[in-house]
Amino acid sequence: MRLGIFGGTFNPVHDGHLRTAEEARYKLRLDKVIFVPSGTPPLKETDTVASSHRFAMVKLAVASNKDFIVSDLEAGKQGKTYTVDTLRKLRKEFPGDVMYFILGVDAFLELPKWRQPEELTGLADFAIVSRPGFRLDDVVNSPYIKGADTEEVNREVSGKKMIRTLADSRPAVHQLRSYRLASGRRAFLVPVTRLDISSTDIRHLIEQKRSIKYLLPLSVERYIKKHKLYLKT
Ligand code: ATP
Ligand code: MG
Repeated sequence: MRLGIFGGTFNPVHDGHLRTAEEARYKLRLDKVIFVPSGTPPLKETDTVASSHRFAMVKLAVASNKDFIVSDLEAGKQGKTYTVDTLRKLRKEFPGDVMYFILGVDAFLELPKWRQPEELTGLADFAIVSRPGFRLDDVVNSPYIKGADTEEVNREVSGKKMIRTLADSRPAVHQLRSYRLASGRRAFLVPVTRLDISSTDIRHLIEQKRSIKYLLPLSVERYIKKHKLYLKT
């Protein structure tokens, strides 16, 4: 199987996440996308709601998509969780499967601040998705990018994989621009529909008692209302 792993705080999940996951699924020919909402950070002063709420909202958001799954690997644990540990666990759980770690270019550029980034970039290939306000081309400035990936692409084009491309109308993965990571893994640049939506903006709208309609699924909007989330008291 070809799996996409999509981590995030999802505080709350919104249509930017969902459409991005859907387009990454199509463009990378993934069988499933596994959403992994993070655990609750230990510091109480943040505006991150409990992981049980964020997990429940992602569950509601993906309910209508049979190719989307939610994992409680992080949300089910107490305290802060780290992607590097999660990817190690998922590697063990799905030993024979191809794994792509999906993240926005904003998140990829923050990688040096993450826990054990060198190890992390060795655990899966990366799918770096576009996001309004950030340039996909900036990924070359990341310390974890080693260089362009032309050799591999040429080999694939002249080899067997080209035949499969012709029989399938979907673009082949190798048609995506890719870079070689310092770890030896590959990082694919995946342009997706530019939806300028962020959880931060949604939280601000709720605080100001303004509408959040059409920025996220109705089921999630209802959940937020029911549980009175993100209202500053
Ligand atoms: P916040 O404003 O709280 O940081 P967010 O909208 O950035 O929330 P996250 O949970 O931080 O959402 O993001 C999870 C992943 O989804 C990250 O890799 C991020 O880059 C990506 N992402 C979030 N929103 C979008 C979007 N509108 N388009 C593309 N990628 C997105
Ligand atoms: Mg973010």
